[in-house]
Amino acid sequence: MTEPADNVVLAELKIAAETLPPEVFRLAVEQAAVAISITDAKARIVYANPCFEKMTGYSCEELLGKNQSILSYKVTPRLVYDSLWGQLERQHPWNGLLVNRRKDGSRYLADLTITPVLNAIGETTHYLGLQRDVTEVHQLEHQVLNQRALIEKAVDATQVAMVLVDTQLQPILRNRSYKALE
Ligand code: FAD
Repeated sequence: MTEPADNVVLAELKIAAETLPPEVFRLAVEQAAVAISITDAKARIVYANPCFEKMTGYSCEELLGKNQSILSYKVTPRLVYDSLWGQLERQHPWNGLLVNRRKDGSRYLADLTITPVLNAIGETTHYLGLQRDVTEVHQLEHQVLNQRALIEKAVDATQVAMVLVDTQLQPILRNRSYKALE
């Protein structure tokens, strides 16, 4: 149960949230630790925050008016873009991974979320893009998978039945000889 005093604080917080000056929103976007871009309805960039500039190597001036495809590494299958635009045309957000190219030509993997921004009469006027560079995480995941595949191969090659268990004694790796015994 919430105390009456809590209700007063909650009501005050609600008013404070509703009357947040636009300047606070602007500063929050400007200083966000995630790359943020805003485009018009044709995907032309109208705003990019400093984190976006840092991630892509382009300055805001260079990006203004350009299509977001300026970042495309041109290896993403057309099907991905068709699905992206299909979602956006239905005014649904889209999330996925895209291989992007920085200004210096280097590649990075972007975890991108695009949200349509609707006006008062429900028309899409802008898109909001949030992206994170997940290249390292992805590489680490691949390294782990490759190492696991290598270990599995080595363990499989021995004639001795082997099983690797976790702390709950659940098997996480069984070699061919062990599976044959099972
Ligand atoms: P396009 O000529 O853009 O066409 C690709 C497909 O998308 C076609 O099927 C086309 O019909 C459809 N399409 C394109 N524009 C529209 C539109 N305005 N309305 C409806 N359908 C359309 N792409 C990236 O590669 N990297 C990014 O980081 C990235 N970020 C984006 C962020 C936002 C906020 C938005 C809105 C889009 C972003 N895109 C991004 C998508 C980008 O705009 C391009 O669609 C994409 O890069 C493919 O470019 P293209 O020139 O190869 O093909």
